Amino acid sequence: MSFNSLGLSKQLLLAVQKKGYTDPSPIQQKAIPLILERRDVLASAQTGTGKTAGFTLPILHILSERPAQKRRPVRALVLTPTRELAAQILDNVQSYAAFLDTRSAAIFGGVNQNPQIRALKNGVDFLIATPGRLLDLHHQRALSLASVDILVLDEADRMLDMGFLRDIRKILDLLPQKRQNLLFSATFSKEIKKLAHSFLHRPVLVEATPENTTVEKIIQKAYRVDKKRKTDLIIDLIAGGRWQQVLVFTRTKHGANRLCEKMIKCDVSAAAIHGNKSQGARTKALAGFKRGEVRVLVATDIAARGLDIPLLPHVINFELPNIPEDYVHRIGRTGRAGAKGEAISLVSLDEVAFLRDIEKLIGMKLPTEVVEGFELTDKPEDVKPQEKRSGFRKDKPKGKGNKKSYWRRKR
Ligand code: AMP
Repeated sequence: MSFNSLGLSKQLLLAVQKKGYTDPSPIQQKAIPLILERRDVLASAQTGTGKTAGFTLPILHILSERPAQKRRPVRALVLTPTRELAAQILDNVQSYAAFLDTRSAAIFGGVNQNPQIRALKNGVDFLIATPGRLLDLHHQRALSLASVDILVLDEADRMLDMGFLRDIRKILDLLPQKRQNLLFSATFSKEIKKLAHSFLHRPVLVEATPENTTVEKIIQKAYRVDKKRKTDLIIDLIAGGRWQQVLVFTRTKHGANRLCEKMIKCDVSAAAIHGNKSQGARTKALAGFKRGEVRVLVATDIAARGLDIPLLPHVINFELPNIPEDYVHRIGRTGRAGAKGEAISLVSLDEVAFLRDIEKLIGMKLPTEVVEGFELTDKPEDVKPQEKRSGFRKDKPKGKGNKKSYWRRKR
């Protein structure tokens, strides 16, 4: 199927062509015609499936069909859980709208609100927002939601995991009754279904797992190593393998900082991205990484959520996550768009139970190796296993089993 058959305008097809896309992804093939028909859509899709273009392109088409009103009130609103996602969606919107007269902006917390208020004052047709900042600016009367015609809840499961349900409900109350609603979520817990039923009008269900090739193209390996030698091993792998773009996951913010400092000392350019970093520092680190100036991005799970880093060749779990579902999210950062990817986990003796949980979830044993020069010296009797699900996360995924079935379906 080609983009030409989806019913999108010439200007949008030109923008898509400029992006270098040749064929629409499965979610785009299914969702675009339905959204153009003005149906409510309940879509099961995660980052990496092309879902952003799946809703952005038809929304831009719909907006451009009606002349912008003089004061340009917000007509399309996308709610998304994180600042990074909001910025990414805005990037997408702006590139797809290159040949249209559509104004777009993103508003999110953690940065000065004044430039956002100024942008809103100038008029915005297509607004991307995190729930908290949106409510905040609405209370300050910096924007009106009375003309919203299309609402998107993007990554709805993450928004609920992050405790945004009340804010979302408040926002729904501020919108006109008559509007088109689209909900995108990677998983469907009871809470998501309840939310979906409460505001979607006769939705069409659309399902798209990431491209089949994605997972099969990820080479997964576990390297058993003593805990105290992990840093040496990771530097050896990255420097020795001359890997250029590596995303490394640690379990804690301090761990991310420490590892980053050690890498820099060994002349491996690295930056850390986690919740204690300012928005500016996070954006800068991610931009440097994307441009190839920073070789290693060290991230915690929460900071990495939803980040779109195209064609990432290597993901390393410096520490295994104690929530097995996070493993699936982490390795989903590699092998995108048909590219080959490698996901390596460094596993010390105290993490063996985490490894077993992950293997249970993904339904396969990870091939395990010991790297020459990094033979194990730790003895099981001397090592205290880490407690499972210690460091209980506030935004721990609540839905049980969804990711499991998603993963099994794909294999
Ligand atoms: P998303 O799932 O929206 O985060 O998109 C994942 C990545 O796929 C982004 O880098 C998009 O630019 C890219 N992408 C989206 N649609 C297509 C397409 N039809 N062909 C190739 N790449 C695409």
